[in-house]
Amino acid sequence: MARYISLYSGSSGNCSVVEENGKFIIIDMGKSARLTNKALTELGLDVKNLQGILVSHEHTDHVSGLRVFLKNLNVPVYTGAATLDYMQDNLIVPAHIEMHDLSFNGADIGPFHVSGFETPHDSVGCLGFRIHTEKGSSMSIATDLGMVNEYIFENLKNVNLAVVESNYDVQMLKDGPYPYYLKSRIASNRGHLSNHQSSQTTLRLIESGVDKIQLCHLSNNNNTPALALQQVALTAMANGIKIGDHVQVKVNRRHEITTDTEF
Ligand SMILES: [Zn+2]
Ligand SMILES: [Zn+2]
Repeated sequence: MARYISLYSGSSGNCSVVEENGKFIIIDMGKSARLTNKALTELGLDVKNLQGILVSHEHTDHVSGLRVFLKNLNVPVYTGAATLDYMQDNLIVPAHIEMHDLSFNGADIGPFHVSGFETPHDSVGCLGFRIHTEKGSSMSIATDLGMVNEYIFENLKNVNLAVVESNYDVQMLKDGPYPYYLKSRIASNRGHLSNHQSSQTTLRLIESGVDKIQLCHLSNNNNTPALALQQVALTAMANGIKIGDHVQVKVNRRHEITTDTEF
């Protein structure tokens, strides 16, 4: 069995791991190398078994730990073309690190096959990922995206586990302290997914046969895990589906490791 584990998640930093038979890949690293290494040690994951790092986009909550983490390692990084250029120009990873463009072709990263798909976000580029393991399991992940179009949905479905952003509650964002421009940016098609948008996608994924869903990148100011879960449950219930029967939905924790999900 493969495992998906979120080390930390949200606007203060994102990092997760996909592991099978001890070998693993990391997706994003938005907190310090020290914190990330501490979490990896807690999980019993040795960096000598790290096969590669996937980067969704260049925002600091996804890359800020990479430079120090990779200082004494020789691990390849995979991301989209625009993000790759940005990261090289801005020295986000040390110069010795090999970087690969996942925009058009998938890549074999140790025992994992990974492909990327573009998502709309206010960054130079942004990718979601589909990951297939050696034993035949699959998962998809899309974080930091303003909307889910058919192309993205096609890339999210037909997997054993789908991880989807559920960033903000519409009412909390409206009533919250953010200035108007920031509220508009978050709610735009190049911002983040609301609980409502995420629950619509989740419903479609469940209807298409996905039975493990994980919600990620919750806002600290404009959301709570309870609200995100409640919205998914309400949308599902309105369509005759009860979460918990055959469908598991979990929320990634902000500052702690989330219990692993086998897929
Ligand atoms: Zn982010
Ligand atoms: Zn972002």
